[in-house]
Amino acid sequence: MPVETHNKPPIKTPKPRQLGGGLLVLFTVLLVLNFILPGFGPRLPQVPYSDFVAKVEANQVDRAIIGQEQIEFSVKPNTQDSQDQPATAKVFKTTPVALDLDLPKILRDHNVEFAAPQPSSNGWIGTLLSWVVPPLIFFGIWGWILNRQGGGPASLTVGKSKARIYSEGTTGVKFGDVAGVDEAKAELQEIVDFLKNADKYTRLGAKIPKGVLLVGSPGTGKTLLAKAVAGEAGVPFFSISGSEFIELFVGVGASRVRDLFEQAKQQAPCIVFIDELDALGKSRAGNNMLGGNDEREQTLNQLLTEMDGFEANTGVILLAATNRPEVLDPALRRPGRFDRQVVVDRPDKIGREAILKVHARNVKLADDVNLGLIAIRTPGFVGADLANLVNEAALLAARGNRPAVQMADFNEAIERVIAGLEKKSRVLNEMEKKIVANHEVGHAIVGALMPGAGKVEKISIVPRGVGALGYTLQLPEEDRFLMAEDEIRGRIATLLGGRSAEEIIFNKVSTGASDDIQKATDLAERSVTLYGMSDTLGPVAFEKAQQQFLDGYSSPRRTVSPKVTEQIDREVKEIVDNAHHIALAILDKNRELLEETARALLDKEVLEGDALRAQLNRAQAPAEMESWLCTGKLPEETHLMQTVLV
Ligand code: ADP
Ligand code: ZN
Repeated sequence: MPVETHNKPPIKTPKPRQLGGGLLVLFTVLLVLNFILPGFGPRLPQVPYSDFVAKVEANQVDRAIIGQEQIEFSVKPNTQDSQDQPATAKVFKTTPVALDLDLPKILRDHNVEFAAPQPSSNGWIGTLLSWVVPPLIFFGIWGWILNRQGGGPASLTVGKSKARIYSEGTTGVKFGDVAGVDEAKAELQEIVDFLKNADKYTRLGAKIPKGVLLVGSPGTGKTLLAKAVAGEAGVPFFSISGSEFIELFVGVGASRVRDLFEQAKQQAPCIVFIDELDALGKSRAGNNMLGGNDEREQTLNQLLTEMDGFEANTGVILLAATNRPEVLDPALRRPGRFDRQVVVDRPDKIGREAILKVHARNVKLADDVNLGLIAIRTPGFVGADLANLVNEAALLAARGNRPAVQMADFNEAIERVIAGLEKKSRVLNEMEKKIVANHEVGHAIVGALMPGAGKVEKISIVPRGVGALGYTLQLPEEDRFLMAEDEIRGRIATLLGGRSAEEIIFNKVSTGASDDIQKATDLAERSVTLYGMSDTLGPVAFEKAQQQFLDGYSSPRRTVSPKVTEQIDREVKEIVDNAHHIALAILDKNRELLEETARALLDKEVLEGDALRAQLNRAQAPAEMESWLCTGKLPEETHLMQTVLV
């Protein structure tokens, strides 16, 4: 006879959305069965405990099953009390009183056969439940978390889910869309040929390169070139950025590398492009501080393993981009890995014109637009800047409701890109304006007298972008690759012209010149330590050569004796001091012109074009300037001009 054990209360589980209704339904069914099944057994009449004891003592009870929570007992035939109980009932149940320890004795005394209940006979469900429910709850919660995080932090979406991101299919970009980087294009043309006619090379036993490193400043078009290679060859393009490999959990990056290569191999021939390779492949040697690099190291190792692992001619070609090749781990550049380097340079004037043409294809240009002239005025611009420039000009024309983009729009756009957007809202107070005006005119007058610095095109005291309160725009007449000694001196003097004007007019300096001073000092130092322009120190390089594309990467001094260091310092100071003296002498001599031009600038806020040039043409050179430009020295008898600083 089944003895009902206590039923488990229904347990509230978080709904496992992901594991689907199936498990949930199963769970519910089991639970319901557990409640219902015992109900199929006979329903026993319940009597009070005292009745039970009374019946025992009256010798009416035949046998009893004593459970923890229930006692069932059968009554001897013909002895039941027919008034209270249905005649047919022979078996009753009662709830035991826990502390009644006398019961066994009483039962024995009255010859009642008694026993404990058999271990639960409806237990198969109970047992099943006790095994099934906890894992269900566990998986339910797990599934719920995963579901909730869906697409969220990578910490929980590890593995293959990122797969889609790598592949961009065929790019549709052609070499025609990339301009101004002809050398890089020529080198990559070979890769296109490898991909297109692989058997031409493999038949002769040639090994197709596995990895090509594209090196160049940001925005020079490395990504675009990689896409163009894929587009020209008509193969799929997989891309991922080095920084995406670096993840929260150690090992994720490595598994991602594995995943990427697995996909790529399935779709070979194809291009795999890794942007920012330096984020991943930083030299392990230079970076052994306090652990923390395990993840990157593992990822890097996996990448190396994968590169070694696939056969040379499977048709997977890796292109990677970086602007800091010197920090890459040497292991990455061994033969069979990224053993080819393609430099993607900043475009020259002709290149810039070509890039402008590419981006102006879909822009309506007015007749007066001369892309060649724009290219001349934008030295140092990279492809991304030029793309931005064209767009900016088009926006300006649209804002002015002009039917086509005019040269004036481009000129305005150049300024915007160079100096940041005009911020007319930032207002200088009168005194600040006066200082800025004199400062800028100081640059302009000194600059007008110096060789090779280009024409001063515009002076403005309209604050722009961050930091620049005013600016002097000096545009070169041509691309310059070399700077002569005198031009460097002239440049330093021009840089100091702003501060010198403040000194002469106000007898004090402001913080506004700090950027100028920084640049002037850097230039002076480079002329001594890198260009070997100092007479006393001679053509010895005291700094390790800096690679051209490494913007802002300061190169370390060679190990030099303290004496030489002192000498360098003295030379640098002399160069700067002499240039400062010349700037002061020029402005002193042209003081009237300085004040007059500054007043005009304050009045108009912007001076440019012929009016400005006519003004600056009046500037006169002081006597010592010529010889200083040639030798860098001032005549013996000159005392450095000193201005009183309050
Ligand atoms: P990088 O990868 O070197 O940082 P990108 O290839 O991402 O530079 O260049 C960004 C954008 O700048 C390109 O999408 C393209 O519009 C423009 N661009 C850059 N270089 C060139 C170029 N040489 N010719 C045409 N457009 C270019
Ligand atoms: Zn300045």
